[in-house]
Amino acid sequence: MRIFKFGGASVKDAAGFRNVTSIIQRFLDDKPLAIVVSATGKTTNKLEEVVAAKNHSVTEALALLDAIRQHHLTIVKELFGQLPAELDLHLQEHFVEAEWIIEEQREMQVDYIYDQVVSVGELVSSRILAAWLVHEHLDATWVDARDLIITDESYRQARINWDETNRRIGNRLSASLRAGNIAVVQGFIGSTPENNTTTLGREGSDYTAAILANALDAGGMYIWKDVPGVMTADPDFFENVTKLDRLSYREAIEMTYYGCKVIHPKTIQPIKLKGIPLYVKSFLKPEDEGTVIAGDIDLEYPPIVVLEGKQALLHFSSADLSFIAEYHLAYLFGLLDKYRIKVNMMRNSAISFTVCVTNEPIRIQHFSTELNPMFKLVIDPELELLTVRHFQESMLPGLIEGKIVLLEERFKSTVQMVMKTSRPIVPRRS
Ligand code: ASP
Repeated sequence: MRIFKFGGASVKDAAGFRNVTSIIQRFLDDKPLAIVVSATGKTTNKLEEVVAAKNHSVTEALALLDAIRQHHLTIVKELFGQLPAELDLHLQEHFVEAEWIIEEQREMQVDYIYDQVVSVGELVSSRILAAWLVHEHLDATWVDARDLIITDESYRQARINWDETNRRIGNRLSASLRAGNIAVVQGFIGSTPENNTTTLGREGSDYTAAILANALDAGGMYIWKDVPGVMTADPDFFENVTKLDRLSYREAIEMTYYGCKVIHPKTIQPIKLKGIPLYVKSFLKPEDEGTVIAGDIDLEYPPIVVLEGKQALLHFSSADLSFIAEYHLAYLFGLLDKYRIKVNMMRNSAISFTVCVTNEPIRIQHFSTELNPMFKLVIDPELELLTVRHFQESMLPGLIEGKIVLLEERFKSTVQMVMKTSRPIVPRRS
């Protein structure tokens, strides 16, 4: 049993769907096969714009949604030559459901609205892929992830109900896969027990694939990317980047924790628990080796650089200069957790406490409104966090050139620096 995950870049247009199909065909002898697919190209970003537009203009939100629909219809027509009636019906169904939510007048929680609308991206891309595989004479079935992945009601960051999810995957997916069917499942989405759609957090399709791999005791999980594998740094921003052939689960967890974008941070744990190897491979060169993530033995690694933008420093001090004691920290972490603010680095002193967090201004604003006035809070936004694992001292000056380091921490072979930059982060290639 293998699980393949195809991200948005691999299905950004009709040629992408054809390429994905040819990769699946290469592996047909290795069935059973479950395919997890993301929304096409940048559809999720566009759907986020729809949700934002609903706030001020329903008409504008509907127009943006219609543009997304037209884009998908263009892909379908390019693939099939015309719009197959059954696929047309399914696509309409998903878009109409999103329209209802947009037109709905009653008060609804914004994160709830987000999940109902943004999930459409994965629903329609998976419909197109399943239909195209069938058209290409593959025994593929569209499977609704919301019947399998059961979560709580934390919209936008839903947490998995593992018992129910495992039970459902076992009952509803296992047998058909073993009978030779290729299941096409949406990444990123799940459902509450009351059948409300939830999402697992941005880039969450990798996590979906890992959940399926874990529940199905898969022999391997494959993530197909537009890079040759896991790289020593993001080739869009750094020169002299090389591919890592092999990584232990532990190193992969560390890298993703520090912000390496190739794999979603929650992906490794479910596959590590079952010892399932994860292959990160290029969908542009599927014959190439890629990176294998497996095993517990740490190897010798070259320096690995992870640069994360969108960071902010939150400086807390107690207004009366009293000590920042453990119970203060417990309170602050409780509040950070309540607003789902991701802490990436921290430092405390007698009268102050500083955390580097992912800069999500709305969450931070809600957090600071609730913050007990005994704390003074100063926010330093628009920063970068540089992490170098297995670093060599000689490489650091080049990496921080032209930047002001605000906070630095060294631990064993890892150095982290929060930096202010006069130059915005721009990719080397666009
Ligand atoms: N489509 C979702 C996103 O762009 C999930 C994913 O692609 O993993 O975040």
